[in-house]
Amino acid sequence: MRINPSTFSPGEALLWRHGVVEPEFIDLDGIAAAEGAEVRYRALDGCEARLVVFGDRGIISIKPDPKYPGRQRFSLAHELAHWQCDRAVGGALCAADDISPSNTEAKGRESAANNYASQLVLPDYLVAPRAEGLAFTLDAAQELARAFRSSLTAAVLKLLRHTARPAAVACHLADGRCWFRKSRSLPPDAYILGELHYDGPAIKLLYGDEGGRTRPHTEPATRWMSGPSTRGKDVCCQSLKLPDAVLTTLELLR
Ligand SMILES: [Zn+2]
Repeated sequence: MRINPSTFSPGEALLWRHGVVEPEFIDLDGIAAAEGAEVRYRALDGCEARLVVFGDRGIISIKPDPKYPGRQRFSLAHELAHWQCDRAVGGALCAADDISPSNTEAKGRESAANNYASQLVLPDYLVAPRAEGLAFTLDAAQELARAFRSSLTAAVLKLLRHTARPAAVACHLADGRCWFRKSRSLPPDAYILGELHYDGPAIKLLYGDEGGRTRPHTEPATRWMSGPSTRGKDVCCQSLKLPDAVLTTLELLR
């Protein structure tokens, strides 16, 4: 494994300073304590997580989320990011919508904290060598999520960042809204459609009660994407039912 610390993001540099050379060494509670912030898990009203600053000490409070430990871990990473970057301007009170691995591109304190958190949970220097040999599917992202104890959404977004394949991740909600992210090698004219195809398995997942996921399979690209470079091609796709949405990995096949 060749690692060049001079190129590290601030989140990666923090882990490196604490001796993290394997995913299982990422002890965010321990790192927070060593950096001067105590972590408490307790019921919170009106927010998902918060940071209170007392001079050079901080208290991070996290709402316990035993059903989604990866999400709880991302919340801790997000507050640790506020402690490292924003303590001079006071504490933070963060709602569930503020804390999201998919919200890293906008400008502002919350998306900056999400970006930093994504490097604490899934640091590029440890993900890159593992992502190289992985397919671009939810099953592959699950492997990463297991190794790094992250949520599947955080892992699939990180895998997208590292894959050399022309790929995308899309999240379709029941009210028709959709967010998506594209890999660097997906042609720029490929646009992810906002509606699920009426005849595809993903829409059955979205409106069914059974949950679960589809196997990786091939569908015509036009079911998922528009754009001249997608015409006549197929995509390899895999979908998963989230509580109120469907998350899908898409790889445009050549
Ligand atoms: Zn925040």
